[in-house]
Amino acid sequence: MDPREQFCPNMTCPARGKVGENNIVVHSRKEARYKCNICGKTFAETTGTPMYRLHHATELMVIVATLIAHGCPLQAIVAAYHLDERTVMDWQERVGRHCKQVHEHLVEQPQDLEQVQADEIRVKAQGKVIWLAMAMMVSTRLWLGGVVGERRDEGLILALMGIVRKCALARPLLICVDGFSAYVQAIARTFRSPLPTGKRGRPQLIPWPDIHIGQVIKRYQGKRVVDITRRMAQGCFESAQALLQKSRGGTKLNTAFIERLNATFRSRLAVLVRRSRALIRNPQTLEPLMYLMGTIYNFCTEHKSLRLPGVVGGHKWIPRTPAIAADLTDHIWTVKELLLFRIPPPDWQPPKHQGKRSQAEMALMAKWSS
Ligand SMILES: [Zn+2]
Repeated sequence: MDPREQFCPNMTCPARGKVGENNIVVHSRKEARYKCNICGKTFAETTGTPMYRLHHATELMVIVATLIAHGCPLQAIVAAYHLDERTVMDWQERVGRHCKQVHEHLVEQPQDLEQVQADEIRVKAQGKVIWLAMAMMVSTRLWLGGVVGERRDEGLILALMGIVRKCALARPLLICVDGFSAYVQAIARTFRSPLPTGKRGRPQLIPWPDIHIGQVIKRYQGKRVVDITRRMAQGCFESAQALLQKSRGGTKLNTAFIERLNATFRSRLAVLVRRSRALIRNPQTLEPLMYLMGTIYNFCTEHKSLRLPGVVGGHKWIPRTPAIAADLTDHIWTVKELLLFRIPPPDWQPPKHQGKRSQAEMALMAKWSS
């Protein structure tokens, strides 16, 4: 237990979310609890993680999460570890929600994306079809997130573009997609910024310049691709070419990178959704599962094409994950590290109120500022 790496999770504490302020001490080694010296509250080591109040060993949850993320059938996990099916379902959900929070906290930060590829996959589940739309940044292979829906429609694409927008800086950007027409309008509606006028009311939204949309339309005969049409649905070809080169994403417009990632997701999900009853009632149960897979892919899985040459400890290559390539972290995470990652709450702001502050509040603030 290292109190120096912990922060206070108490939302009313002025020191909430702060690391390295020397306000956290070990409260109980036996119960694995820390104490904050500012607010005086204690908290469990696992507060804010899926392991909070877990009745099993941490290691078991780590193993189960790893197996699920790689498409191991639920029944196999139930049989191998003598767990109840509902327990495994519950863990899948908890771990997935946690991964989504980690994703929102670390990945959904504006950066120069250069080239993004987006695509949809169709997952069959007991008499029902579910669509997953996902996007990735090409140069770092970073999975930017995804959305789940019952139909492949404008709403699905609009939600996906909303996620990409959160990850993007207003820089030249090439978005490569398939021939689905909803992308053009969804991108036009999403990539806009308010024009500050200083006046009251809703400001005018100005579309971002330099957004280029490349479409790659494949024609199939059976399962074979017989013809590929590449065209610019928006923007200019020269800029697109420059962005392709900059992001090392091939010489022609393509969606090869997202297609490869989608194929991995599809094969792993197919096993997991085949007999899921919860999924039939509500396709949104697939979302945590998708985030579990995506986050383990981003943070815990080294990518051969991302490795760098260099000799470290006798190894010829320095392995990198998409998260390292995108500068979100400096090392390959273990699944345990991912699941125990605590998301710090936003900085504390003194509450706005009229009149005198209470004595307790004054004492708390004095303690924090000293
Ligand atoms: Zn505190």
